[in-house]
Amino acid sequence: MEVTITIAEMKALRREIPGSVGFVPTMGYLHQGHLALVKQARADNSTVVASIFVNPTQFGPGEDFDTYPRDTERDLALLEKENADIVFIPSNEEMYPEGFSSLVEVEKVTERLEGSHRPGHFRGVTTVVAKLFNIVEPTRSYFGQKDAQQATVIKKMVTDLNMNLEITVVPTVRESDGLAMSSRNIYLNPEERQAATVLFKALSLARQLQERGKIDAEYLRQKMTSLIGKEPLAKIDYVSIADAQTLEELTEIDRPALASLAVRIGKTRLIDNMVLE
Ligand code: AMP
Repeated sequence: MEVTITIAEMKALRREIPGSVGFVPTMGYLHQGHLALVKQARADNSTVVASIFVNPTQFGPGEDFDTYPRDTERDLALLEKENADIVFIPSNEEMYPEGFSSLVEVEKVTERLEGSHRPGHFRGVTTVVAKLFNIVEPTRSYFGQKDAQQATVIKKMVTDLNMNLEITVVPTVRESDGLAMSSRNIYLNPEERQAATVLFKALSLARQLQERGKIDAEYLRQKMTSLIGKEPLAKIDYVSIADAQTLEELTEIDRPALASLAVRIGKTRLIDNMVLE
């Protein structure tokens, strides 16, 4: 496994790769969710590239950029085990040298949900992912359903800007009690960790109600909200039942829908989602 920290070397390595390249961009502190993307990339491609970069431009002021968990040595051991071929770990200066002044912005679908609660977040994501795509030139790139809106935004960017790669979305990997794996789960103390299961419980309730034929989206939102309300450590950012494609809030569930939510457990902000077929 090759590890590189410069764009020039990453590009030089890329020029020598003959077949398909599967690319997994991450912010590190890897868990089984990330590794599911690497496994899928490994199954689909002759070469697998992963990146580790905690991208400062996708964090807002007062968010957790400084405290975001980092453990590069452990990450490299995990990637080696999954047979990744190349790991790209650039510094902030490498990615954003002095005078950097270009941004990639996807409109509309970024205005809702995470976008409305984290202004500028998706502009940071699309800018860094566009840069990474230009550096790595992947055949395919892999994103998690865990960040459903992010996957939608990236697909839109690739389509709108005619980028020459395929995007694959990999199902959310969960702990045994349903909590979606996330690097941020490390912030939770034992009591909060227990409380955090309320996200999966609320999403499961939405799915159950929908499977029982409830199509009133507001009814589902209310049921989810009141279930979360019973957890004293939880504070809702949003609860959404939206069109799975456009992410516009639905009145009736008359098409494929996405139940999604952002909830603060203590100081930790967690997101999760479930597709309602
Ligand atoms: P991050 O390091 O949080 O930026 O995540 C890197 C990639 O891993 C993104 O495409 C995420 O959607 C994906 N990912 C994170 N957590 C999970 C999970 N529990 N299951 C599947 N994919 C995940």
